[in-house]
Amino acid sequence: MSDPHLNLINGAWVPGDHLSENRNPSDLADLIGLYAAGTAGDVTAAAGAAAAAQPGWFAAGPQARADLLDRIATRIEAEATDIATMLAREEGKILPEALAEARRAAQIFRFFAGEALRMSGEALASVRPGVDIEVTREPVGVVGLITPWNFPAAIPAWKIAPALAYGNAVVLKPAELVPGTAHMLARIIHEAGCPAGVFNLVMGPGSVVGRAMVEAPQIGAISFTGSVPTGRAIARAAAERMKKVQLEMGGKNPMVVLDDADLPTAVAACLNGAFFSTGQRCTASSRLIVQAGIHDAFVAELTRQMIALRVGPALAPDSQIGPAVSAQQLAGNLSYVDLARAEGCEVVGGERLDLPTEGHFQRPALFLNARNDMRVAREEIFGPCAAVIRVADFDEALAVANDSDFGLSAGICTTSLRHAREFRRQARAGMVMVNLPTAGVDYHVPFGGTKGSSLGPREQGRHAAEFYTTVKTSYSFAG
Ligand code: ADP
Repeated sequence: MSDPHLNLINGAWVPGDHLSENRNPSDLADLIGLYAAGTAGDVTAAAGAAAAAQPGWFAAGPQARADLLDRIATRIEAEATDIATMLAREEGKILPEALAEARRAAQIFRFFAGEALRMSGEALASVRPGVDIEVTREPVGVVGLITPWNFPAAIPAWKIAPALAYGNAVVLKPAELVPGTAHMLARIIHEAGCPAGVFNLVMGPGSVVGRAMVEAPQIGAISFTGSVPTGRAIARAAAERMKKVQLEMGGKNPMVVLDDADLPTAVAACLNGAFFSTGQRCTASSRLIVQAGIHDAFVAELTRQMIALRVGPALAPDSQIGPAVSAQQLAGNLSYVDLARAEGCEVVGGERLDLPTEGHFQRPALFLNARNDMRVAREEIFGPCAAVIRVADFDEALAVANDSDFGLSAGICTTSLRHAREFRRQARAGMVMVNLPTAGVDYHVPFGGTKGSSLGPREQGRHAAEFYTTVKTSYSFAG
């Protein structure tokens, strides 16, 4: 086992007040490493260093920022296999998915290297003669980034890269369960030549480090991805302090399958959307809304393919589905399997699996004959479980799809252009997919939702500028 992994504050590696164990959910005997758990004092130091470094970072200009992000991208690519191995080991995502995620992190940094150069504004004539108006974008200042465990490379990347590109300084707090990937990213950012204080890593508990970030006066904006209750608490605390917030929270994403769908396409989209990454995605297709005419054939084929999925350790070459991230997450998933039965569903799969290594393994589950008012169709499970809801026609499918507290992603499988078009227009979700899984994959377009899923400006693509910059309107009169 390597040395303890420390926090990065003002360009130096510093210990927290204790060390926290990072264990492999595919093999609990595998202790990945010890990671510093920071304190509120560490957050104060990091936020202070960031505030001191930020003006110089912005003043260094777009070329310096683009060059740093480009170097970070190159280093992530060079270390992609090691990052992916760490990610798979600590989060439980199978290695091919972890590798795709590590590469995506590099692509995100490279995209925002370009965006640093494209930071632009507007020049307008005033309604008053002789007056010119300039609308420019400026960095917010210091941003606090609080990230979850399910995308340990991609989510930190899609927050850090735009933050730095637009001239902000950063304090990052990764989720307690996945400090390893974040620590590798922090080391790469540091080694790529990021000036001291511009990027800071403070690992540790949300209730200590996360809370202190929301409270720190130097941090002007918080970008958070995680659960609804935490998001709500952060929004409340941020409002009190007049901080800008961007919240990405849960989903209960519908996937509609119409009678006219191409069956193999629909099954492939649902298998991927519901179960890949062990269903641990806020964009998971957790409500499969299926028209009566195709229902039985669809369920038969999806069941056949679901049961055939190989559940196993994330690093084993033949695994298709890894473990739940933690004992607590697995217990939650299993309790929803029991709840589905209690609510009257027929449950296929879902049982706990004992494999040669001790880990949090479970077979994926379908909850058949579900109704949209059941808890298993309304609450986010965040595991490999999908409720199947039978509907009569397109109108009922659309109504059921939209009847949710969440509105992140919504999908439809159909060969009807009319239904696809209608669904794209009427679905109350931030992202809509036609004949594709509900996951948001492309890194250069906006990601985010409506209703209880998101609050604040969108993440990713050039829309990220809405959160990571503030707009200044300047009037000048030459005299
Ligand atoms: P999840 O179920 O994905 O773990 P959480 O909302 O609990 O969702 O965690 C998401 C992130 O928010 C993690 O980095 C966690 O440490 C952090 N967090 C948890 N509680 C708080 C809090 N009170 N204030 C700020 N951040 C928090």
